[in-house]
Amino acid sequence: MMVEFAKRCDCGAVTLTINGKDISMPYSQFKSEYPGTKLEPDKYFACNYCVNHWGTDICECGSGKNVGKCKCGSKKSSENNGELPWKFLRDHQR
Ligand SMILES: [Zn+2]
Ligand SMILES: [Zn+2]
Repeated sequence: MMVEFAKRCDCGAVTLTINGKDISMPYSQFKSEYPGTKLEPDKYFACNYCVNHWGTDICECGSGKNVGKCKCGSKKSSENNGELPWKFLRDHQR
């Protein structure tokens, strides 16, 4: 899968655009799963994670940290009940 676009947000998450869909993840996950992918020089003010709560493995509080590794102590990920393009992409990535 080609990453068309990768941009960081003020909330700390990185949002990737792949096949026209946006997925958000913690920065550390971006680094490990998409090595060599360049980030855009500018940032989002708001992304699908902090606005729509799309994203897995990313803390529900909006900090942009991995689930369970956030200072807020939450063990839940940010995930809404709608379509999660992230899951589709992850299943088809490799
Ligand atoms: Zn954001
Ligand atoms: Zn948190």
